[in-house]
Amino acid sequence: MPTIGVLSLQGDVQEHVAALEFAGATVISVRRERELDEVDALVIPGGESTTIIKLAQHFDLVEPLRKRISGGMPTYGSCAGMILLADRILDGTADQTTFGGIDMTVRRNAFGRQVESFEEQVSVEGIDGGPFTAVFIRAPWVESVGPDATPLATVTTGPAAGKVVAIRQQHLLATSFHPELTGDARVHEYFVRMVRDGARSAGVLPEQRGGA
Ligand code: GLN
Repeated sequence: MPTIGVLSLQGDVQEHVAALEFAGATVISVRRERELDEVDALVIPGGESTTIIKLAQHFDLVEPLRKRISGGMPTYGSCAGMILLADRILDGTADQTTFGGIDMTVRRNAFGRQVESFEEQVSVEGIDGGPFTAVFIRAPWVESVGPDATPLATVTTGPAAGKVVAIRQQHLLATSFHPELTGDARVHEYFVRMVRDGARSAGVLPEQRGGA
């Protein structure tokens, strides 16, 4: 049974803990480097990315997190967590940085004021059982995707149609939406499978890429 940490600096930590436990993981809260050392994988929750990065700086977690993330620790970020896993962000605050890891540019608060919070049925590649009820709350979208990352879902209706809202790069997974708020644990189950399968099967399997 993998031990998955939930970064517990700010945001909807408890909802992720519950969804991960339902998906079969042993879960601990991560607020300190020594707690990070104990986990096989990490979830970065939704919340406020500017606050989470400031608290991570305060707790001296930024470099240890960057090291684990770039070193292959499976990591899943939802909403603010997606922003924090992005290599590049748009509409961040002046000094806003991220942990990085996914070769993408993410636009914060992208869906605009009139639709700051909404739900949409979204099909996620690799997740069976029909579309997922995706809850977006002042959500980012993926503005552009580098060659190393693979989009898993896009919005299909409205002005944002075509925008990528779920993405994977090897051991890293991110969604603009909040599966932890829906009672549908399929995204967390997918992540737990990623953790179990290890880095070999993360993102796009070499064999799925055509034997590279
Ligand atoms: N808009 C928030 C941010 O910039 C993210 C919102 C969320 O996580 N629900 O961090």
